[in-house]
Amino acid sequence: MNIILLGAPGAGKGTQATRIEENYNLKHISTGDIFRHHMRQQTEVGMLARSYIKKGQLVPDEVTLRIVEIALKDAGMKDFMLDGFPRNINQAEALDKIVGIDKVIDISVDFDVLTERICGRRNCLECGYTTHVSQLKGGVCPKCGGEMQQRMDDKEETVKSRLTVYSEQTAPLIEYYKSQGKLFTVDGMGTPDEVFGEVRKVLG
Ligand code: AMP
Repeated sequence: MNIILLGAPGAGKGTQATRIEENYNLKHISTGDIFRHHMRQQTEVGMLARSYIKKGQLVPDEVTLRIVEIALKDAGMKDFMLDGFPRNINQAEALDKIVGIDKVIDISVDFDVLTERICGRRNCLECGYTTHVSQLKGGVCPKCGGEMQQRMDDKEETVKSRLTVYSEQTAPLIEYYKSQGKLFTVDGMGTPDEVFGEVRKVLG
């Protein structure tokens, strides 16, 4: 089974992806994670991606499609879960030419809670654990004790343009996949466990 996780920034795609990965045999492919890896390694792709990511804009399709093709090949072209890709119609059409998609799960969250969720998000530098700042005691990771940090694009000024990009470029994918009969909408307003309960109903 090949699936896509759709949803605005802050909808909880990453949180659900971790649970889906643990419970289903699907390889997690997050384009955001791949770009962040390239940025840490200071590769050419990483340097280019940084200039777009810090402004809250999309990395050009040509570059994004190249890294996705590599990741799909590494995954054996099957049993994968795409998180953060596609992000516009052009990417979706390109994907359709490469590989078949079975289900698209759109995690739906009220727009007015997204900014607070994203700006409050903190990530562990050591193990990658992500949580809301209100859950932290003393700024250290509750899983491994590592240092928690805010992503550079989770700052309020960048979040605004990420949400605009989502509305203008990514949200039209909901209709795109609905017309293909592949769209399943899940209410993302509950706790992570509640949302995962809904995801389970879709994945079986
Ligand atoms: P994410 O971790 O999915 O929120 O992605 C962080 C940032 O990486 C986005 O705001 C974009 O700048 C870039 N990015 C991730 N996925 C894509 C994509 N499919 N197309 C273009 N840019 C992307």
